[in-house]
Amino acid sequence: CGQCVAYCPTGALAIRNDVDKIYKALEDGKYVIGMIAPAVRASLQEEFGLEDDIAMAGRIVSVLKMIGFQKVFDVAFSADLVAYEEAHEFIERLEKGEKLPQFTSCCPAWVKFAEQYYPEYLSNLSTVKSPQMALGAIIKKYYSREIGVNPQDIVLVSIVPCTAKKFEAEREEFKGDVDIVLTTRELVKLIKSTGVDLRKVEPIPFDRPYGLSSQSGLSFGKTGGVLGSVVKVIEEKVKVKDVRTTTVREGVQLTEIELDNGRVVKGYAVFGLGNARKLINDIKNGVIDADVVEVMACNYGCVGGGGQPYPNDVRTRLRRAKILRDTLSIDVLVSPTENFHMRELYNKYLGQPLSHECHETLHTHYKHRKRVEEAEIDILPLPTEESE
Ligand code: SF4
Repeated sequence: CGQCVAYCPTGALAIRNDVDKIYKALEDGKYVIGMIAPAVRASLQEEFGLEDDIAMAGRIVSVLKMIGFQKVFDVAFSADLVAYEEAHEFIERLEKGEKLPQFTSCCPAWVKFAEQYYPEYLSNLSTVKSPQMALGAIIKKYYSREIGVNPQDIVLVSIVPCTAKKFEAEREEFKGDVDIVLTTRELVKLIKSTGVDLRKVEPIPFDRPYGLSSQSGLSFGKTGGVLGSVVKVIEEKVKVKDVRTTTVREGVQLTEIELDNGRVVKGYAVFGLGNARKLINDIKNGVIDADVVEVMACNYGCVGGGGQPYPNDVRTRLRRAKILRDTLSIDVLVSPTENFHMRELYNKYLGQPLSHECHETLHTHYKHRKRVEEAEIDILPLPTEESE
């Protein structure tokens, strides 16, 4: 997916440049809010001659504020929220013995792939929105009230490693929550357009309350991060004896959670849609048992996303994953549950996990779509650095 933007089998990916829309929003006097996905901070230094830099998120916040952004939040905050909500959804399914395995749903390329090729599994997809769309909904619905700004005057800019997120923000059911989606490469263009030397920019923290995240939230940027975060919450909610993780093959990891009652819950983390297809077929044919499955379309997860700087090869992706791990180690909070601003959000607006209000704000639905061979799609030439 990261390598095959134009030939994405789901047709979820689009090549666009949305930098100009930001300047237009600022000129129009809109209240511009930014939100930065975890994997962006692990790759931006590649374009600015910086060494691997775990303070990169703070530098991005600084530059966005210089440009005129009013607030900048962290998508890792809503990753905590998504993991928390998704873990409760999984526990409910496990207790009822229904609709397992539960598939994660935070990768829009995977969601569209499932909608096209596996409609029989759509009710197995977690109904929790992706971190991008969950944070968009929270900001437009609750935060707008807190700051006394009409949601229509807020322009929410999501900065992500992913071209499929542009498609996601335009899905009918989400329209209006996220206004502009900028890839890491477009962020590079935006920063370069200011003439600011990123190496000399002083990092500043994300704004609160949606700038706080745990190590789990940040780990959404690499393969296994979503599953690991959900497992952390499960460990806190039900009695667990042991957790073991092993690599099944390149692109497939198995996490076994041994519950106190002897039941072993099997969680798979898969990257690449080819690996996902094989795993699903194995589940269908009864070759393997699975209770929860994380699918990320890009190799090694979002660090290898289609919107990341070039080169986007295996070595680069592994280095970005390492930067993200090093960034994790400076965070004090480990589990989503420890994110006190997330708990505050439940107390103030959402109530309990899976409440009616949670369903209204944080959950969504999926629909069967035409397969690519049935749909009429334009095949674009593969993008290159020069063509953008
Ligand atoms: Fe986007 Fe991440 Fe999915 Fe790749 S793995 S398509 S970057 S969400």
